[in-house]
Amino acid sequence: MGVNTTSSIDTNTTQDVQVQPTGVQPRVVIVGAGFGGLKASKALATAPVHLTVIDRDNYHLFQPMLYEVATAGLAPDDISSPIRETLKHQSNTEVLMAEVTSIDVQGQRVLMGDESVPYDYLIVATGASNNYFGHDEWRQLAPGLKVLEDALEIRDIILSVFEVAEREADLEKRQADLTFVLVGGGPTGVELAAAMADLMHKSMSGSFRHIRPASARIILVEGESRIMPSFPASPVTQPQARRN
Ligand SMILES: Cc1cc2nc3c(=O)[nH]c(=O)nc-3n(C[C@H](O)[C@H](O)[C@H](O)COP(=O)(O)OP(=O)(O)OC[C@H]3O[C@@H](n4cnc5c(N)ncnc54)[C@H](O)[C@@H]3O)c2cc1C
Repeated sequence: MGVNTTSSIDTNTTQDVQVQPTGVQPRVVIVGAGFGGLKASKALATAPVHLTVIDRDNYHLFQPMLYEVATAGLAPDDISSPIRETLKHQSNTEVLMAEVTSIDVQGQRVLMGDESVPYDYLIVATGASNNYFGHDEWRQLAPGLKVLEDALEIRDIILSVFEVAEREADLEKRQADLTFVLVGGGPTGVELAAAMADLMHKSMSGSFRHIRPASARIILVEGESRIMPSFPASPVTQPQARRN
């Protein structure tokens, strides 16, 4: 999730939003209230600084459970919590909901369109973005799974495909409708494939009259020689207890 840095912004054209005046306490700005940004915010809760936390969303997202939203196991609210609520007891902290568009490194300002926030110290914790490994054209066809919108899009695709298949008389077309391809056999792909199987075998069981959801095919494609390539091939064994 890139935030551009620049040293050539004309700060006369940007308007500082209300922040602590210079010279009172060091002004710390944290961009991003994900795991990293929130951890840093909490670590500075009692520090003699004026802290401004900026996120484009007004909620912190628990990404590890996104696959549950994508498969209708959890609602968006279950995995998101208001940033303001989380930080409301930190008297040295203010929260801004805004998209950071650029950072003026020389002028020490975080830019949010035509608004800006000056800083003495800056923490950028804007997370990662989806990597299509040089195939950005796939973005149109297949959403990644990083933000709530992705999870809701995947949920819509999965659920609506079963509705289409229920009305499809052509058996070949029906089976094609019920074939899902997931690209990437890392933890996210594996978790999503397993949760989809669970949805189709358990939650959807008996809900349709013309199709059997469990007959859907889930194909997980991985470019390496095995799935979960970033994990050890064999289970990690506990060290043997020492015998004297
Ligand atoms: C599907 C999935 C499953 C995962 N499962 C696990 C797991 O089981 N275990 C594990 O340890 N890790 C897991 N992870 C990884 C873990 O979620 C990330 O490592 C972690 O969220 C990274 O924290 P972060 O603070 O760096 O970024 P993020 O949590 O991504 O937070 C970045 C924040 O910055 C904000 N932001 C970004 N750009 C801007 C901008 N321009 N302006 C304003 N705000 C901005 C975003 O809105 C967001 O709130 C998973 C990740 C995903 C996607």
